Amino acid sequence: MFDDLKGKRVLITGSTQGIGLAAVEAFARAGAKVAMNGRRVPVDLEATLARLNGLGGEVVFLQADVSDSAACGTLVEAFVERFGGIDVLVNNAGGLVARKPLPEIDDAFFDAVTDLNSRSALMVTKHALPHLKAAAAQSGTTSSVISVGSVAGYTGGGPGAGLYGAAKAWLHNIQKNWVAFHTKDGIRFNMVSPGTFDTAFHADKDEDTKARIGSGFPMGRFGRPEECAPTFLFFASHACSGYITGQVLDVNGGQYMP
Ligand code: NAD
Repeated sequence: MFDDLKGKRVLITGSTQGIGLAAVEAFARAGAKVAMNGRRVPVDLEATLARLNGLGGEVVFLQADVSDSAACGTLVEAFVERFGGIDVLVNNAGGLVARKPLPEIDDAFFDAVTDLNSRSALMVTKHALPHLKAAAAQSGTTSSVISVGSVAGYTGGGPGAGLYGAAKAWLHNIQKNWVAFHTKDGIRFNMVSPGTFDTAFHADKDEDTKARIGSGFPMGRFGRPEECAPTFLFFASHACSGYITGQVLDVNGGQYMP
């Protein structure tokens, strides 16, 4: 179904675990050349890469803290040096940093949340842009930028997650500008907006709490990372979504229906 992803060069930020890692696996199974990125080198890196490289594609690890703008540029350079260009960028790195209600928010916390969730995607996209444009021209199809939003981008986020929700809403919004001004470059921009997925993001909750929260969703449970992964393949594949840009696909078990 995703035959045209074979050999495509895919950079996925924040992908050593959770939703990002499931995306790396899905692209590898489709035969893509993928860079898994994280702030730190995972302890089990060699075993993980051996497993991932047995799936049918090619996977490398590139270390970079994408909260740091200079590191975003270095990450893109390292990727291009390895694979010769970029066909698909997935801006997945993100997180709460911490839960802080409004009275506790200071400049340092504001910077940490917005650097990780907003500025990282902006900077990696900025540096990737000429490569995505070149790849589109070379292939005669489109390149694809897929950013990871959140249900919190619509709802404003849960307790202490207001800044996080706002940072994701910022992404939902700025994508519209990128579509307006860079579609001519052959680049499509879409967003995957997860609801509530069972990853380290919810490490502050025990299993009973997760079950109780999940029972309030139409699907009756949290999502699993591998249930989000095919949406990245869909937006990456020109054959599947070549005329789709500027959209937000909500993968949330019916938790929220915008
Ligand atoms: P996770 O915590 O399991 O994964 C986050 C990944 O980002 C990890 O691989 C981590 O190493 C990486 N990362 C964190 N900071 C980084 C940095 N500065 N530089 C590079 N990498 C960094 O969480 P997840 O649930 O898999 O989250 C993935 C994305 O989905 C995030 O953008 C998150 O905001 C979003 N999201 C998650 C949920 C959910 O319920 N899990 C809901 C909505 C949106």
